[in-house]
Amino acid sequence: MQKVIIETSENYRFDRVLQAVERIFDQLGGLSSFVKPGMRVAIKPNLLMAKKPDDAATTHPHVVKAVIALVQQAGGIASIVESPGGPYNATLLRRIYGATGMEAAANETGAELNYDLRVEKVENAEAKIVKSLKILKPLHDADLIINLAKLKTHGMMVYSGAVKNMFGSIAGLEKADYHMRMSEYDRFADSLIDIYLATKPRLNIIDGIIAMEGEGPSSGVPKWLGVLLGSTDGFACDYAALQIINVDYRMVPVLRLAQERGLLRPEEIELIGASIESVRPDDFDVPALSGIKSRSGIGLLSLIGKRLKPKPVILHDVCKLCGKCMEVCPPKIIKPDENKQLTIDYSKCIRCFCCHEFCPEKAIKIKKTAFNKLFEYKRLS
Ligand code: SF4
Ligand code: SF4
Repeated sequence: MQKVIIETSENYRFDRVLQAVERIFDQLGGLSSFVKPGMRVAIKPNLLMAKKPDDAATTHPHVVKAVIALVQQAGGIASIVESPGGPYNATLLRRIYGATGMEAAANETGAELNYDLRVEKVENAEAKIVKSLKILKPLHDADLIINLAKLKTHGMMVYSGAVKNMFGSIAGLEKADYHMRMSEYDRFADSLIDIYLATKPRLNIIDGIIAMEGEGPSSGVPKWLGVLLGSTDGFACDYAALQIINVDYRMVPVLRLAQERGLLRPEEIELIGASIESVRPDDFDVPALSGIKSRSGIGLLSLIGKRLKPKPVILHDVCKLCGKCMEVCPPKIIKPDENKQLTIDYSKCIRCFCCHEFCPEKAIKIKKTAFNKLFEYKRLS
C-alpha cells in the first residue's frame, strides 16, 4: 500500500505548520528513518517565479522552513534547490529567493540557498521517452531529495503537484527544449513522469494550505484548503490532492499516463489522517482540459488539432512590454509589430502556455474555442 497522509493547518502560522509536517513524517515512519546524520538533503520547492508567498504560486516559506528544521533536527544538512522559470543564473535566483521568502527561511535556519549552476547527466532506466537527461548538480549529488510542491491548477497540464514539480530539476531555458520536443500534451506528460523517476524524491509534500484555482499555475486565484499532504510516492500524493479538489485523475494527463504505465495504482493507496470529505471545498475552479491530444502531430490532423486547442491572447492594454514572454516562448514566435505591440504567430504556436505562465502582469489570457467550451471539464466523481 502507498500511504498518503492528509494533515490540516488552518493557516501558515509556523508552529502549526511545523506540527502538521512533523505528523506527516511520523506517519511515514519518522524522518530519522530517511535522514541520517551528515546526509545532504536537497529541499526542492516550487519557485516558479518572483511571486510573494500570498500569491499562492510558490511553496510557502513556512512549509520549507518547517521541513528544514526537522531535517536539521535529524542531523541532515539542508539546502534549497530549484530551477525556476526563465534563465538560470545567480541574479534571477537571488531575486526569486528574496521575493518568495526562501532567503528569510534560509537565514532563519542556516540552510544553504543553492547558487551552483552546474548540471549533471543521468541515465534514466525507467523512462519511456527521456532516457538520458541533465539535472541540477546539487539534486544529483544530494543523498536525499524532499519534494515540496504547491497544489495548483495548470493551463496546459490541468493540475500541478508533486510529479510536475520535479520539472524544476531541469536548468532554466532548457525546459523550453522539452516543450519544443514534446509539444504533444501526452508526450510532455510522459516526459514529466520520466523526470520525476530520474530524480526520485524520497519524500513528497504538497502545500495545499492555500492552493491556486482558476488560471494557474501563476495567474490563478488563491484558494484556502487548509491541507498538507505527504507521501513517499508522488503519484499517490497527486491522486489524493485531486480527490480533495474533486477532479477525476483521468482528466490529468500525468496521472492518467502514470496509471497506464503501472506507476499509479489507486486501489493500493491508503489515505491516513483527515478524510477527503472533511477537507474538500464546495467548489474549486479547474481549467478545461486544454484541447485535444494529437499524438500524430503531422499534416491536416495536427492543423485541425491546433485550431481546436485554446490559445494565448495578449491583453495589450495590460502588457508592459517587459519581454518575459518573448524570452520563455520555446519557438520564439512572440514579436513586436510595427506599432510595438506584441503579436503571436499562431501557425507556429505549440500551445505550451509558457507565455501565460511567466507573464508577471497577467497580460496573457487563455482563450478557449467553442470546441473547448462544448467539452468543458466535467467533474466525474
Ligand atoms: S510577459 Fe506579459 S507584460 Fe511582459 S511583454 Fe509579455 S505580455 Fe507583456
Ligand atoms: S506563444 Fe505562448 S503558448 Fe505559444 S508557443 Fe509561445 S509560449 Fe507557448
